[in-house]
Amino acid sequence: MAATVIDGKAHAQRVRDALAGEVARFTEQAGAPPGLATVLVGDDPASDVYVSNKQRACAAAGIAGFDHRLAPDAPADEVATLLRALDADPAVSGILLQLPLPEHLDARALTELIGPAKDVDGLTAASAGALAQGRPGLRPCTPTGVMELLDAHDVALEGAEAVVLGRSTLVGRPLALLLLERHATVTVCHSRTADLESVCARADVLVAAVGVPRLVGVGHVKPGATVIDVGINRGPDGLVGDVDFDAVAERAGLITPVPGGVGPMTIAMLLRNTLAAARAQQAPAAVRST
Ligand code: NAD
Repeated sequence: MAATVIDGKAHAQRVRDALAGEVARFTEQAGAPPGLATVLVGDDPASDVYVSNKQRACAAAGIAGFDHRLAPDAPADEVATLLRALDADPAVSGILLQLPLPEHLDARALTELIGPAKDVDGLTAASAGALAQGRPGLRPCTPTGVMELLDAHDVALEGAEAVVLGRSTLVGRPLALLLLERHATVTVCHSRTADLESVCARADVLVAAVGVPRLVGVGHVKPGATVIDVGINRGPDGLVGDVDFDAVAERAGLITPVPGGVGPMTIAMLLRNTLAAARAQQAPAAVRST
């Protein structure tokens, strides 16, 4: 294998260990720990696992967890009342509304009930707008995790050709903006991009966030490129990414595996955002992006 494999699990653990120290110092100084409220509506098994992992990670970092679970048929006003109460609760620094929601609920409208100061998922229009305009604010966790991995491996971004596959509000779009902020030349590809392979093959940094197993093959990759795989696809072979890892690892310079690449970073960045939100709520004038 030519490529160096990025160990996202180990890096996420280092971030979480460092955060635990920062959380302890914050708690001592503020007299109360940062708090993360998670809201899960329904009984989707994957969401249940995600929320439980987030709560466990909070506990390990010394962050207070508030784990709210509502019935699958919870009416919109019940979810809205809970979100408003959490937004007003000083013990809650950050709020995470686990998506997807059951079909009868309007995810966008409910997400907007989270104030920007507590939007640790970075998904409200206010947070997305702040990112688009380069203003301070909380940034979405998965794209921030990708940036953290790139920085940890000293990947040069200024002037580099970066290609992002996927334009979702959760991953692709915010990631493109974060790369742009770091002076990369960014191209965003999507389901209707013509000649995807040749566009991807220009990339010094190629990030796949599509949800199509092994879409990115060796022909999409410039020799020596950094390839980051955000995809998580459950199939007969277990979890696979959007990148054909074995083939692409022969050509890339740096590559993330699935699992064990970007995934663990998402929770680490959620904890970091929760601490940043708590700090900003302590000293509103000092609101900083993470
Ligand atoms: P999404 O379905 O919202 O968006 C997928 C994007 O891919 C769309 O913009 C679409 O235009 C594009 N696309 C679809 N088919 C394509 C094709 N054949 N060629 C080029 N582009 C194509 O998905 P999402 O929420 O952005 O998630 C993407 C993947 O990342 C999924 O596998 C998801 O499970 C994973 N994910 C992982 C994490 C993590 O923590 N690692 C977090 C969020 C999402």
